[in-house]
Amino acid sequence: MAVALNIPVFERTNPSAYETAISQYNRAISYLNLDEGLIEFMRYPRREFTVNFPVRRDDGSMEMFTGYRVHHSTVLGPSKGGIRYSLHVDIDEVRALAMWMTWKCALMNLPYGGAKGGVVVDPHTLSIGELERLTRRYASELIPLISPQSDIPAPDMGTTPQMMAWIMDTYSMTVGYSVPAVVTGKPIGIGGSEGRTVATGRGVIICMMEALKRSGVNDAANTRVIVQGFGNVGSNAADYAQDMGFNVVGVSDVNGGIYNANGLDINAVRRYIERTGGLAGYPNAEQVNNNELLTLPCDVLIPAAMEGQLTAYNANQVQASLIVEGANGPTTPDADDIFADRGITVVPDILANAGGVVVSYFEWVQDLQSFFWDEDEVFRQLQRIMVRGYDFTSTTAEQHGVTLRNAAQLAAIKRVADALKTRGFYP
Ligand code: NAD
Repeated sequence: MAVALNIPVFERTNPSAYETAISQYNRAISYLNLDEGLIEFMRYPRREFTVNFPVRRDDGSMEMFTGYRVHHSTVLGPSKGGIRYSLHVDIDEVRALAMWMTWKCALMNLPYGGAKGGVVVDPHTLSIGELERLTRRYASELIPLISPQSDIPAPDMGTTPQMMAWIMDTYSMTVGYSVPAVVTGKPIGIGGSEGRTVATGRGVIICMMEALKRSGVNDAANTRVIVQGFGNVGSNAADYAQDMGFNVVGVSDVNGGIYNANGLDINAVRRYIERTGGLAGYPNAEQVNNNELLTLPCDVLIPAAMEGQLTAYNANQVQASLIVEGANGPTTPDADDIFADRGITVVPDILANAGGVVVSYFEWVQDLQSFFWDEDEVFRQLQRIMVRGYDFTSTTAEQHGVTLRNAAQLAAIKRVADALKTRGFYP
């Protein structure tokens, strides 16, 4: 019997990430015939951790910072999820990101639950030494929660492989021996995986190519791509799209973007950013702001910055016919409805950006086995798992007559629910 739903109706201001996550959950479970107890169980994070801790600044002063770690689910295995450094971090954002990690790992059939962490900090305002002290102190506060068997962090917005190295070292110093498998996204020299840095962006483009192939588009050179966000996900997606012959016409970072209808040279853009620190003043391109970028002419739009970018306010102006979500939660539920009405396909975050956690999974497996793969093997397995995830999602969408978002969510929720039923409720 279908479940009676109490779908919250949010004000016409942009919903928070957590409101978006809960709204997506409520929609997805309406297609599943689940027991009310299971529905409630999966709606809540399993545990939440808040910590306030001091960091010594270079000038000798002491400053307090707040950090979080949320384990949404451990039903399918140890919890897995990145750590974000941003001034936008709050407990609701971390909750949403942890919940999305649960569905992402389940959808991709990885043996993990979902988690996320964050520290309220703009990492660009700290020196390297301050960042190291902040990361090590936060890591040591997380020690009761993390381990290769219980919870495995990774990089996210604002965090880097070097920070993962400090977390690995802090944990290892505490237990007295080296434990590379406690964190993924590490530098290769200390147990990181080949291909991890580019994995999320590469996975985004694998999904984009699957979606285009299925809608009969085979002409890469005439397919125009816009990427919002030029960090780990966005820059590597732009790179791989160009390598695959697509025409990347627009990119942006937090300060604004550039657009050239004839195409950008992504390598030249990278070199320009390295030299000048940003996109401002890049030659042979129009300077645009972040809102404009999302609505400029293109065939594929890849939001790869942060949540809440495509909303009821700009969804009608989007000109792309395909949206591939590199970021987590970039599209609000209202915007999803508008895209569905307009016939615009949205490849949802928990599928499109899963390449990162897929290669993180490979890294963890390699660390546990102390047996390392070459890059070809990593990319071959990444391609296989991304295409398998895409097939699973699109078959579910056809079976239920729903969007790829609802299909991905409901398929993932069903996997967790089935495991939960098999395990039973403790005690
Ligand atoms: P990052 O810190 O490397 O880069 C973020 C980029 O977005 C930067 O270029 C920044 O300037 C830009 N940006 C920030 N705020 C913006 C705004 N308001 N408008 C436009 N651009 C803005 O972060 P990342 O690791 O690339 O993560 C980006 C997104 O992808 C996040 O939603 C993250 O959760 C998600 N994600 C990351 C990974 C991963 O492996 N790193 C995996 C899955 C999902």
